[in-house]
Amino acid sequence: MAPNSVSEVVSLLSEHGDRAKMLAGGTDIIVQLREGLREADVVIDIKKIEDITSFHYCEENGLSLGAAVACYHLYEHPQLSQLYGALADSTHIIGGWQIQSRASVGGNLCNASPAADSIPSLIALNAEAVIAGPEGQRTVAVQDFCTGPGRNVLENNELLVAIQIPAQGGECGSAYERFIPRNEMDIAVVGVGSWIRLSDDGTIAESRISLGAVAATPLFAEEASASLVGKEPTEENFAAAGELAKKIATPISDMRGTDEYRTHLVGVLVKRTLTTAALRAQN
Ligand SMILES: Cc1cc2nc3c(=O)[nH]c(=O)nc-3n(C[C@H](O)[C@H](O)[C@H](O)COP(=O)(O)OP(=O)(O)OC[C@H]3O[C@@H](n4cnc5c(N)ncnc54)[C@H](O)[C@@H]3O)c2cc1C
Repeated sequence: MAPNSVSEVVSLLSEHGDRAKMLAGGTDIIVQLREGLREADVVIDIKKIEDITSFHYCEENGLSLGAAVACYHLYEHPQLSQLYGALADSTHIIGGWQIQSRASVGGNLCNASPAADSIPSLIALNAEAVIAGPEGQRTVAVQDFCTGPGRNVLENNELLVAIQIPAQGGECGSAYERFIPRNEMDIAVVGVGSWIRLSDDGTIAESRISLGAVAATPLFAEEASASLVGKEPTEENFAAAGELAKKIATPISDMRGTDEYRTHLVGVLVKRTLTTAALRAQN
């Protein structure tokens, strides 16, 4: 089914409950249905809905990103890729360019993988999820959206309509980096998104750091973020923030890395992404 409006989707969801599954780019859901990891009687293609496939930026409200906008729109857009560096970094490494031409940031968020590459960037950028359901719309901070591996706050009769990301002034910069053993077709062993706003005197006015693949959900590193406020954007201060971020990581050990190795990587990537974010803010 391919409805033309959000209200039609809500009606279908209300009718079919958890037997209905949404399809944006389909790069997760089609694989999961084929492999029997998820089941559906009805698959709802949301790509015919204008509100969900479009995006708008304005200096007052920032970026409203339709839930099914494909990744490449973000890193190919000259203004958005500069303003939202972390999101451009993330969308540029999700799969190869064939995947990026279909896969959406909304789908990446709803799939709620702990290792999803766009979620730490969205959290660092202080994004909100705009959700529609039978009672109308509600918003949830992206840092509270994922509730476990493959699980999120959406009720069976709700869908993600858009992601709202605050406007970025010239003094802001952000970056995302992940560590993977191979350059392509692998998922993050650790991923870190960082955002910085500098004051007129060059010190850090605000900062947000988020970690992926080191817990059951992507994490907002609150203490590490707050520790930078009022400080100079130096290597030492970024390394100290990295040490604080390590404290909230509770990674698993598997064939791709031990928990100790992953925790070490958190420190490395926090320092690197903060350095890039600060350089982007300064430039
Ligand atoms: C070869 C390959 C490589 C990949 N590499 C990466 C990678 O490097 N990094 C990474 O993070 N991911 C990767 N992925 C996973 C996937 O591409 C991403 O998670 C992608 O962003 C999903 O977006 P989509 O639009 O295709 O989502 P879909 O598959 O359409 O949907 C994903 C999930 O979200 C639900 N959903 C979608 N839209 C909505 C909505 N608006 N409201 C409610 N629920 C919704 C669907 O029902 C489904 O459960 C890869 C996948 C493949 C096949």
